[in-house]
Amino acid sequence: MGPDLHQAAGGAVVWSDRYLEYSWTPEHPMNPVRLDLTMRLASALNVLEGVELLDPDPAGDQDLLRIHSSAYVEMVKHAPAQPGSRAAAMFGLGNDDNPIFARMHEASSVIVGGTLRAAQEIAAGRARRAVSIGGGMHHAMRNNASGFCVYNDVAVAITWLLEQGFDRIAYIDVDVHHGDGVQRAFEGDPRVLTISIHQHPATLWPGTGYPGEIGTGRGEGSVVNLALQPGTTDRYWLRGFHAVVPGAIAAFRPQIVVSQCGVDSHREDPLADLALTVDGQRAAFRAMRELADTYAEGRWLAVGGGGYGLVRVVPRSWTHLLAAALDRDLDVNTPIPAEWRDHVLSRVPHADVPETMSDGGDVTFPRWDGPGGRPDSGVAQEDRDFHRVDTAVLATRRAVFPLLGLDPDDRRD
Ligand SMILES: [Zn+2]
Repeated sequence: MGPDLHQAAGGAVVWSDRYLEYSWTPEHPMNPVRLDLTMRLASALNVLEGVELLDPDPAGDQDLLRIHSSAYVEMVKHAPAQPGSRAAAMFGLGNDDNPIFARMHEASSVIVGGTLRAAQEIAAGRARRAVSIGGGMHHAMRNNASGFCVYNDVAVAITWLLEQGFDRIAYIDVDVHHGDGVQRAFEGDPRVLTISIHQHPATLWPGTGYPGEIGTGRGEGSVVNLALQPGTTDRYWLRGFHAVVPGAIAAFRPQIVVSQCGVDSHREDPLADLALTVDGQRAAFRAMRELADTYAEGRWLAVGGGGYGLVRVVPRSWTHLLAAALDRDLDVNTPIPAEWRDHVLSRVPHADVPETMSDGGDVTFPRWDGPGGRPDSGVAQEDRDFHRVDTAVLATRRAVFPLLGLDPDDRRD
């Protein structure tokens, strides 16, 4: 029996104040203030007006065990009470990236519950789209925490959707880091297509996500990786996205699109080296929404992810994401409301608060038009940037497009 795919209402927003308890240490780059500032900015811009915020229940063990081992879940539960225990280190806990914090299990379970709730709203037909900006913990593995991620909420929700009868689920990950945990969970499963666009693994942790990673066994052809060079700006990133993602999605014909919307691809992000602006990120969100509308009857589940520009990046970018999901798209020239500015300055004195919802990024780009399709312009910098992204595009297309029934060199795919 398949899922009940009847048409449904608009967008749902899942939010819990308990998301703010997912808090490592005061010095840790993933500070939950970014989520609080996002919700305040979205509210100040009336993006959330009249929208009921759905407060999730924490995920239970039966849900966590869809993806994680019981030994790991038990360790997350008990590690805070055993300071100095060396056992936790075997599960990726207690290091600089993933220090042990009080009520770690509880806070992480709420995040999983939030992404599950979003999936449930869509599966039940109560919403076509659902967003949970607290989710997106794409690095968490079956047996260990990794890269600020304790439980892999996205993988849990995808597994749940599979159990409901969805059997073509497309996952698109635009975080600057490779979506390794989600890829690992489904690389052998032809029912889940995982696509990750990220900074090249030779230049950034976790060091995976090469174009040659295409899935394993029956899942061969269900993993797509586009690895971009440091310094890639909006227009080249978007050229790469559009040269790879729509073709793969069209061939796969998903019933639902799940997006991990990490915004550490921003040029100001302290942990990575891509060079997007909030304008480019907004364009990416809208492109993923359009793919869901075109190929998945509008079913779009969006979660957050990385993003360490706590004041200038995450709040604006994910406000654009919330607006996109609710069909309340904000003009990029929208001014930042004074009440939000004042709030930020009261919490972060001397913060460099942005003036508008734009960074002035250039999101126009010429479409990829096949290998050798573009003559050199004679402008050295531009030719170099085109060459870099087109080299990445071709590596990905040639590695995986034939397995999707597509011609890697045909610009129409
Ligand atoms: Zn990241």
